[in-house]
This record gives sequence, structure tokens and C-alpha cells, in this order.
Amino acid sequence: MDARMLKELELANVVRLYEARGTRHGTQEVAMSRVSEMDWTQLKEAVRSCVACGLCKQRKQAVFGVGNESAPWLFVGEGPGADEDEQGEPFVGQAGKLLDSMLAAVGIARGREAYIANVVKCRPPGNRTPTAEEATACAAFLDRQVELIRPRLIVALGKSAATRLIGSEASLASLRGKVHDYKGIALVVTYHPAYLLRSLPEKAKAWEDLSLARRTLAAAS
Ligand code: URA
Repeated sequence: MDARMLKELELANVVRLYEARGTRHGTQEVAMSRVSEMDWTQLKEAVRSCVACGLCKQRKQAVFGVGNESAPWLFVGEGPGADEDEQGEPFVGQAGKLLDSMLAAVGIARGREAYIANVVKCRPPGNRTPTAEEATACAAFLDRQVELIRPRLIVALGKSAATRLIGSEASLASLRGKVHDYKGIALVVTYHPAYLLRSLPEKAKAWEDLSLARRTLAAAS
């Protein structure tokens, strides 16, 4: 094989590589464009096999969500941590224990009246905050979960969830205490349980937020 043939072979390989990458990305795009039509089984599979952002590279597994799929309450956190990545269920670590007691305080249980999901379905390395790009890459999944559950009230747990669902970069403090709207569904913002574990005095404020959520839901009945 002479130098010219070698060069051509190299070029052909580069072209093949680009074509293959294009197809892979194309497939993912097609899959994402259909998320809004998926049923639960299709959506779970799409999340399980998603490679839309870099978070897929280090996950042990994607963490879909848990709870009653027709729940009146939907709680949305930020993203899985190490325990959730290991077990495949949202809020199973220390923050999850606190979330369960917050739910119990307003008389609800995770498998019964509540569904729990996250803004991103794969663990951000080192439990960092997901980037805006990662939240956007995962947005169709959370949107479809909301459409399928049709909750009567959404509680955004922390800034990432509030920013993603309200579309506002305002501070958490300024978003608390009001009833917001997410596609016609009432939405209340409160502190993330992991923050409350570090700032116990704020627990009283979280209690106020959940009371507002409960009153809002009761008024709408
Ligand atoms: N923090 C979150 O925001 N979500 C989880 O699932 C666990 C911890």
C-alpha cells in the first residue's frame, strides 16, 4: 500500500467515525423529541439508557423517581447523591430521612400521596449542583413525569428545582412564601432537606412552606 492509499484509508475512517457519531446523536435527538408522547414504561427505559449529557459517564444507574404515579403531591429535588446512585431511588440518604419526616409532618407518605423526582436523573460527580446544560438535557423527562402524574401541587426542594420549574434565577428566599405556577399546577418552594440538615433553625421556615402547600391544596379541592 502506497502513501496515497494510506491517506485515503485514513480519511475514509474519519468519515465513518463522524457518520457513526452523527447517527448516535441523531438517535438520541429523535428519542428526546418523542419523550412528550411516552408512557411510563417507555419513559423509564429512555431515562435508564439516556446519554444526553456527560452525567451518564459516571453514574452507576439513572434514578428515575419513586412514589404513587397518580399522587396529588410531587416533590422535586436536585439530583441523586451517592446513596441514590447506588440504590436507584431518590432521597434515600440522610436528606431523604429528613424529607420523609417533613412529609410525615404534613400527613403524607412517599409511596402513598407523594411522588418524588429530581431535576437531573444522574448523579453529578461529587454531588455538585447540576449545570444549566445538564438540567436542560434532562428537562423533557421531568416535564413528562409531571404530565403523567398530573399532581395537584408541586413542591420544589431547593434552588435547582425552583429555577428549573419556575424559570427564574431569583433567590430561594424571595421565591418562598408564594404560590407559583408550573403549567397550570400550583407550585411552592422550600429549602432542600440537605440544606436543612446543615441549618437546623431554617426547619421552622420549611414547616411554614409545607403548611402553605397544604392550605393551597385544600383550597383547590
Ligand atoms: N438530593 C436530591 O436533590 N435528590 C436526591 O435524590 C437525593 C439528594
